[in-house]
Amino acid sequence: MNNNFQLPETILNWINGKEIPASGGETFEKISPHNGETICKVSRSRLPDVESAVESARHSQEAWADTPAVQRGYILHQICNALEQNQKEIAMIVALETGKSYKEAIGETGGAIALGRFFAGEGQRLYGRTTTSGIANKYASTVRQPCGVAGLIIAANTPIANVAWKTFPALICGNGVVLKAAEDTPATAWIFTKIAHEVGLQSGVLNVIQGYGVEAGASLVEHERVDVISFTGSSRVGRWIAEVAGKRLAKVSLELGGKNPLVVCDDADLDKAVQWTCLSAFSNAGQRCASGSRIIVFDAVYDKFKKKLVDATKALKVGSGDDDDLGPVINERQLKNMIESVNEAKKSGANVLCGGYRVKGSEHVNGFYMAPTILDGVLQDAKITKCELFGPIAILYRVRSFDDALKMANDSPYGLTASIHTRNYHRAIQFSHKIKCGATVVNAGTYGSEPHMPFGGMRQSGNGSREPGTEALDIYSELKDIYMIVDPEQI
Ligand code: NAD
Repeated sequence: MNNNFQLPETILNWINGKEIPASGGETFEKISPHNGETICKVSRSRLPDVESAVESARHSQEAWADTPAVQRGYILHQICNALEQNQKEIAMIVALETGKSYKEAIGETGGAIALGRFFAGEGQRLYGRTTTSGIANKYASTVRQPCGVAGLIIAANTPIANVAWKTFPALICGNGVVLKAAEDTPATAWIFTKIAHEVGLQSGVLNVIQGYGVEAGASLVEHERVDVISFTGSSRVGRWIAEVAGKRLAKVSLELGGKNPLVVCDDADLDKAVQWTCLSAFSNAGQRCASGSRIIVFDAVYDKFKKKLVDATKALKVGSGDDDDLGPVINERQLKNMIESVNEAKKSGANVLCGGYRVKGSEHVNGFYMAPTILDGVLQDAKITKCELFGPIAILYRVRSFDDALKMANDSPYGLTASIHTRNYHRAIQFSHKIKCGATVVNAGTYGSEPHMPFGGMRQSGNGSREPGTEALDIYSELKDIYMIVDPEQI
């Protein structure tokens, strides 16, 4: 494939294998989080564009479903090969539109390819079951069948991983896909789809709609002919999607927010705990659903840990280079929201131990850089304790005992990830089993998923679905029972 990744002046939709502008001709600007400059224009799609994309997906879905799953897997492998050949260019696009470093972006792109390979391999499995029947001469089995049209809506935080996370399992199951790209990362979805078409994915099987959530996203959710909606984003929008899509009994998978606890016990290796807290709270500028934002520390080591953590945080380098530790947040609205939240917490008595402001050094001018921020003196029922901020802000809480730590960790509207730092095997096991969340870690960060592992959350972090892993196949396929009756007379 040629290296033809010059970003177009305007990023268009992909509908039926072609790049198509929004029907109303409207666009919006994609702004660089690194310097506030316009990177490109983006099609601002609305209902008529979504209708064309759904029509295209529906039209091509049957032939795609009739393509043997093994062959669908070969096509996905070819997409992965092409992603690998173009990994550097893709990472450059990811870095450009998110402001994260190239190093981070190349790692993320590698993760997306690994996930693609996992699902490509599922083409040779897609297991149903052969099982028993209670009736003589009757044979029971299940097969997986596609849902039909999958409407996929994603967040901007890890754009190539988010595209891969939903697109690969939806395709291997034989669905037609309409992906609503995140408005802050339009180019990643565009380049992924361009590559998929260049290696031979049938036209119309994968469509991409660019635009805003309340316009293009909502039209996709409301569309009667979309059979499954898979959404990664905020709990607020997820709740609305569950209501709207639930009314027509569409299948819905929701991967939502988190306010994740990281517990530091009195027997923890404090230096390692500090290192993992920094990574949990500040990597990707805290824009991870799994990020550690509630740091719950035993009284006996609180002051020592606090000093080490604040020192380590102050030493973090903010910028978009490979030597930097964290980049900008995705847009100015997010940045302002965080600064307001910190100011509000300060008014209610919180101590800002470091950060709390917009970084405005010469290399950061006009970028959306938030200094890594640590607070303490925040009440357990304060708004900032309960609400996800999705940025580089962590709060320290002091507890007396393991039981208090567990109780506080569980006292949250969310339940996505958690971690505990301890040398005590019994504490580690008890915490792992009693914490109410979808993924927990002992002696490392509040980190999420691997391609073959199910990820998802409890309470406001999701609706019980799990993606990726083979569990994602349950979202993008329907199980059908097949009974075969043998008539002995006919043998
Ligand atoms: P968001 O909910 O505002 O937007 C996410 C996506 O939904 C975007 O593409 C947006 O355009 C679209 N959208 C917005 N309103 C919509 C509507 N009414 N109808 C349909 N689509 C709509 O979230 P965000 O601020 O962009 O992303 C951050 C959130 O995503 C955080 O809460 C974070 O924790 C969550 N997230 C969760 C996971 C996970 O796996 N659980 C992973 C990444 C991010």
